[in-house]
Amino acid sequence: MPSEESFASLAQQLVEIGRQSYARGWTFGTSGNFSAVVSREPLRLAITTSGVDKGLLNASQIVQIDETGRVLGGGAGKPSAEARLHVAVARARGVGAGAVLHTHSIWSTVLSDAAADGGVVIEGYEMLKGLDGVSTHQHREWLPIIENTQDWAIAAAEVEQLLRANPKAHGFLIRRHGLYTWGRDLAAAKRQMEILEFLFEAMGRKRGMTWQP
Ligand SMILES: [Zn+2]
Repeated sequence: MPSEESFASLAQQLVEIGRQSYARGWTFGTSGNFSAVVSREPLRLAITTSGVDKGLLNASQIVQIDETGRVLGGGAGKPSAEARLHVAVARARGVGAGAVLHTHSIWSTVLSDAAADGGVVIEGYEMLKGLDGVSTHQHREWLPIIENTQDWAIAAAEVEQLLRANPKAHGFLIRRHGLYTWGRDLAAAKRQMEILEFLFEAMGRKRGMTWQP
């Protein structure tokens, strides 16, 4: 069946992205999760399961879920509670979010802790041009920060609203927790994850020279 082939192909790509993200130090200690849209109508996601080592990720640790996070097939294990956030992003961004990537990197954790006004502003960096639709370093990127919680089933609806209210944001941060970003497919999402993690580190290191949290 075409959908099964598609799921298998997406699962293999998720494995590669998960391992690369781990190698970069963005998803240590089984943290983070990664997903890709298998179908839109109805919405189906291939997503990493909870508690798996991203450095040793394999395709049997990717499952297919529906909009409620229920497992429909694929490998073994159950998805993280944060699967609801992946669904929220896929719904809010539509075809702009064919894949959703979530890291627990040091620099996203540091920066999400530092901002007091509900978001992080990034401007003036050449690497901003790696974000979808951005053609100049003069771009001003604003990433909303949401408060951390352990009840994502409730918070997912708020996140979906927040993303609809901020259609230009290329990602969002969860305070003292990590980054969510996305792209029309896995390659685009991976590029944006790399761009944003680069910018977080550049900003964090620059601030660290002159600034006390
Ligand atoms: Zn997380």
